[in-house]
Amino acid sequence: MEAPKKKIAVMTSGGDSPGMNAVVRAVVRTAIHLGCDAFCVYEGYEGLVKGGDLIRQMGWAEVRGYLSEGGTLIGTARCMAFYERPGRLTAAKNMVLNGIDALIICGGDGSLTGADKFRGEWPSLLEELVSTRQLTADQVKPYKHLNIVGLVGSIDNDLSGTDATIGCYSALARVCEMVDYIEATASSHSRAFVIEVMGRHCGWLALLAGVATGADFVFIPERPVSDCWQEEMCAVVKRHRSFGKRKTIVIVAEGANDKDGNKISPEQIKDLLANKSEGGLALDTRITTLGHVQRGGTAVAYDRMLGTLQGVEAVKAVLEATPETETCFIAINENKIVRKPLMKAVAETKSVAQAVEAKHFDKAMSLRDTEFSDQYKSYLTTTNVKTDEHKLPEKERMKVGFINVGAPAGGMNAAVRAAVAYCFSRGHTPVAIHNGFAGFARHHDDKPVGAVREFDWLEVDGWASKGGSEIGTNRELPSESGMEHIASLIAKYEFDALFMVGGFEAFHALSQLRVAREQFPSLRIPMVLLPATISNNVPGTEYSLGSDTCLNELVQYCDKIKQSASATRRRVFVIETQGGRSGYIATLAGLAVGASAVYIPEEGISLGMLNTDVTHLKKVFAEDTGQSRAGRLILINEKASNVYDAKLIANIIRDEAHGRFESRESIPGHVQQGGVPSPMDRCRAVRHAIKCMEHLQGYGKKSAAGSTDPLSTSVIGIKGSELVFTAVQELEEHGTDWPNRRPKQSEWLKMRDIVDVLGGRPQHARPE
Ligand code: ATP
Repeated sequence: MEAPKKKIAVMTSGGDSPGMNAVVRAVVRTAIHLGCDAFCVYEGYEGLVKGGDLIRQMGWAEVRGYLSEGGTLIGTARCMAFYERPGRLTAAKNMVLNGIDALIICGGDGSLTGADKFRGEWPSLLEELVSTRQLTADQVKPYKHLNIVGLVGSIDNDLSGTDATIGCYSALARVCEMVDYIEATASSHSRAFVIEVMGRHCGWLALLAGVATGADFVFIPERPVSDCWQEEMCAVVKRHRSFGKRKTIVIVAEGANDKDGNKISPEQIKDLLANKSEGGLALDTRITTLGHVQRGGTAVAYDRMLGTLQGVEAVKAVLEATPETETCFIAINENKIVRKPLMKAVAETKSVAQAVEAKHFDKAMSLRDTEFSDQYKSYLTTTNVKTDEHKLPEKERMKVGFINVGAPAGGMNAAVRAAVAYCFSRGHTPVAIHNGFAGFARHHDDKPVGAVREFDWLEVDGWASKGGSEIGTNRELPSESGMEHIASLIAKYEFDALFMVGGFEAFHALSQLRVAREQFPSLRIPMVLLPATISNNVPGTEYSLGSDTCLNELVQYCDKIKQSASATRRRVFVIETQGGRSGYIATLAGLAVGASAVYIPEEGISLGMLNTDVTHLKKVFAEDTGQSRAGRLILINEKASNVYDAKLIANIIRDEAHGRFESRESIPGHVQQGGVPSPMDRCRAVRHAIKCMEHLQGYGKKSAAGSTDPLSTSVIGIKGSELVFTAVQELEEHGTDWPNRRPKQSEWLKMRDIVDVLGGRPQHARPE
């Protein structure tokens, strides 16, 4: 991209959030890469008003190591002066004196409102600076138009128009980690815990933590519980206890109120749960207020990716803006990074708070994005199991088979749990098929126990945060187990629908079942696949459950390795990732840790590439004056090449380095499949699983949908900004690279350039 030379400044403002450093690194490096000068404004608007040393030009190397640091390294502050025109006047003067013509601001709605006000006033501020002789007309002439782009950095996820703000998933990870810890002790002592999380006007953290951990009850500002929340909460807790649950978790957002606007405090909730009078729950109850730990720690992989991609997009937006362009901010909808009008989003955000204040709760909910209301529905479904409220008439109730296929992936259990909860709430019968098609096929009449059986809610209820696959998974395809046999078993159990969770094998299995429908009428039932694999290689989706968990594991692993290198300094680590023939996790991990090079099967490895990369490393180490102590990372997917592997590449680098720097290989292996699934995988598992169940239910009992409707065998997936079902037949024919077991086209491949540019890799290292 050709760009006119500009001076672009970046700043962080408002409350800090994990991922802000990724923004700063991305903006600085993209700006430099595109021939611009990059500046950082330290301490938010305070820096802009005070100027001097707080506005600094940044070099490429100055943002090294930023990705793995929490908080914001360029500082943030609340600045009273910027609320007033004189403060903004001084800020404008400092901008002109430093020659800055574009400003990228990462902060919450307050910071972005301030930014828009600044841009609106800009011409009059310049006029005043000239008329009061603080600057000359010639001085201000080149800066007639101020360009501002906003990025939303906030742990609350409270801005309308974007599904996620930079930092919210890191905060959610921290909250869920704490709740997971608390659950163990709660269960041991059969206790109840009331956990207060941040969110004065926005219940996103509380709600998603509730969904991810399977909490018993959640209080959020946007949706106060009915007039008698006390009775309602106690009834739910009582019901869950009557199923045999030994722990009770209630999550309450700071800003939770009752319908009349009175605050619901953790103490009130505790008193109710602990009430020993007749009919009371009499639970041993504790309160935990999570406080600032929610902001702490380094950013999760998703926030590093979001901060980086949005930072890059912000620089592009700045360079493409004309004087007529409306001020924009960078949003994400599902998986798509988009530019949106800033003030509309800020106005909508404010109207949520106003709606809550005015007790217009339906309006408040409708103003939040789709994901939020979907998750609210998810939470209700998984809480109100086994009540009669939503049950379908007897004749519409279905028998649904659940099967996991392929390797385990984070979120599989959460998906099954949510779909089972949905079944119970609607009166369907959920049936577990253990150990994939292999387990199903080897099931004999004389040995029915364990292989195929109805789910028990108490057992499933604890699966929200469990890794692996509780019903067991297996790679065997139906063709290997015997298609006729599988078809006869499906007929025998009279399944009305099949719910599959798994990776590429599961997709292959579903495709085989679809083809076999012509021969076996029992297979004409609706079937759906919810993709779950760390490789993220299922056609029909840009995201598979488990890939986020895997990325987090890899990123943590790489951070530790990089840190260990700080003692030895000059070291290159070559890290081998899993992923089969899909370079997704290698590339995304490369993006999140700042890899010097990433090798993936989609490109292969040539001698030329290695030569360029090794030559570049030599140059980098020769120029490194020694202040930057962190090591360099190269990521290589396990199947990137038949010849070069991590060890060989590390040896080549070491040999070429002639003792000037070191190189080592490192193979994290199965660590990547992750222990506890990430909250994103858990929450998406729940939301997608419920959508799948609604889809299956849409066909009804004893449907022969398979004879006519292509969507009756489909894959649910995120495609761009949408969550959609795609017919397996369409994917088989047009979307699948069968020999390489991956989709024919992958959106993430577009990110390779960003990884290379920001990692400082020579542009010509990769083949065209
Ligand atoms: P958080 O989500 O963490 O609260 P925020 O960006 O909303 O982040 P604020 O404290 O509201 O945090 O705003 C940060 C700074 O932005 C303020 O200290 C002030 O300098 C500036 N600012 C906020 N609102 C305005 C406004 N209406 N006019 C001018 N400046 C503002």
